[in-house]
Amino acid sequence: MLRRNTNQKQIVYESLKYLGHATTDELINYINENYENISLATIYRNLGIMLDDEQIKKVKLNNCEVYETVKGKHYHFVCKHCGKIIDVSPNEINSFDNNSYIGNNRIEDCEITYYGTCKNCLNKILN
Ligand SMILES: [Zn+2]
Ligand SMILES: [Zn+2]
Repeated sequence: MLRRNTNQKQIVYESLKYLGHATTDELINYINENYENISLATIYRNLGIMLDDEQIKKVKLNNCEVYETVKGKHYHFVCKHCGKIIDVSPNEINSFDNNSYIGNNRIEDCEITYYGTCKNCLNKILN
């Protein structure tokens, strides 16, 4: 299905992919610095289209909502010092997989967010 403004959509997608995780504010700042000026309305519209197409998803972390491009299943680590958001793959942690049970209850999905100090901030604190 052809959609108008494919190029703008591509810019929004590539910017989000580069940033990893971004709020709409961070996204619009990045796009306006690195590309042409795109209106906030256009960004919102393209984010909506990509959410519907499941190219991107919205994640609630702390008290804010960030967008990210759709990748494999993963969890998040949030640095309490700089706010950096790091993806944590399920392989990196000992966790229930999708076929685990607690009691007789089957776990089918899980959202875990870790909060702590990222390696950059640790370096600053320790040095
Ligand atoms: Zn940090
Ligand atoms: Zn992520």
